[in-house]
Amino acid sequence: MKILVTGGAGYIGSHTCLELLNAGYEVVVLDNLYNSCEESLKRVEKLTGKKISFYEVDLLDVAGMEKLFEAEKPEAVIHFAGLKAVGESCKVPLKYFTNNLSGTINLLNVMEKYNVKKLVFSSSATVYGVQESPAYTEEMKTSSTAVSSPYGRTKLMIEDMLKDICAADPSWNVALLRYFNPIGAHESGEIGEDPQGIPNNLVPYVAKVAIGELDHINVFGDDYETPDGTCIRDYLHVVDLAIGHEKAIVKLNEEPGLVIYNLGTGKGYSVLDVIKSFEDACGKELPKVMAPRRAGDLPEYFSVPAKAEKELGWKAERGIKEMCEDTWRWQSKNPKGYRK
Ligand code: NAD
Ligand code: UDP
Repeated sequence: MKILVTGGAGYIGSHTCLELLNAGYEVVVLDNLYNSCEESLKRVEKLTGKKISFYEVDLLDVAGMEKLFEAEKPEAVIHFAGLKAVGESCKVPLKYFTNNLSGTINLLNVMEKYNVKKLVFSSSATVYGVQESPAYTEEMKTSSTAVSSPYGRTKLMIEDMLKDICAADPSWNVALLRYFNPIGAHESGEIGEDPQGIPNNLVPYVAKVAIGELDHINVFGDDYETPDGTCIRDYLHVVDLAIGHEKAIVKLNEEPGLVIYNLGTGKGYSVLDVIKSFEDACGKELPKVMAPRRAGDLPEYFSVPAKAEKELGWKAERGIKEMCEDTWRWQSKNPKGYRK
């Protein structure tokens, strides 16, 4: 089966391409390389011994996408391509709405034109916003007023759009995958997360402190109502997450209509737990400073992943130790990421 992976050169996309190739799928990648480079795909080809057809095309370029669909005839799409920086989305919301919303609408129109109606969409736990319980289940109600950023709202709007499309036309099959906090890297240390500039997320930041590129870690808030006062999240190994996409494709082949799954471990770790685990992985204590809370952060949330286990046969296998060890292997082997 041939799968089109949009955003396939990026962090989660490249790991997913690798798992798809290893599972015997053919892979076509569309990416404008805005936040990635082709080197990630070259490394995936080297690790798997298989080829990827790569198209440097933007989601806003409808003619370019049509050419790809005509030449490659993909049977399903995994849609990662999008902008993802929460803070930036608050400063330039229109850029996020244009890229993520218009880009996705273009993709869906091209899919419809070429009668490709199987889609896995990269959603996020951010769509839950504030809930009464920190243990998020797929049945919880989502509402755009509870979501804390324009980025999060693009995810929710796309989810809602896909629900409407599936309700109107039962020949569409769509999986909305709500990721919790993906971290880690492939165990080879050859592919991983390669943020440009100063990272916003905790683990890439900690990794840059560990290689000496940044001075110290800022712990955003130690006065939350949690056991050690720092925020709790459900961190998930990117390889487990990638495997979840392959399971979702299998599910879509059963033609289930629209399905929604949390992808997380179900376990929460505090900011200090993660730093400690990273210190164990890199074998040294890392400088850290207690800093004020970051606007918009919730004290605690984690997934209830039971539905994905029951319906997809998917369960996260890798723990926090492997997540930190694999990040450290990637970061120390590639101090400048994919750049030479
Ligand atoms: P990433 O930035 O590494 O990958 C996204 C890729 O999409 C990049 O290669 C980028 O160049 C490409 N892209 C962006 N806009 C494009 C456009 N208009 N046309 C073509 N390509 C375009 O990000 P990632 O961490 O791999 O995330 C992948 C997806 O998962 C995103 O949709 C993101 O919102 C979602 N997600 C990520 C996380 C996370 O913590 N990493 C959590 C939840 C959801
Ligand atoms: N965090 C931190 N210092 C950093 C980056 C993040 O203390 O430099 C905290 C952040 O406040 C949150 C947790 O780490 O509680 C995870 O943040 P991240 O940005 O990685 O993911 P989010 O949960 O916001 O999607």
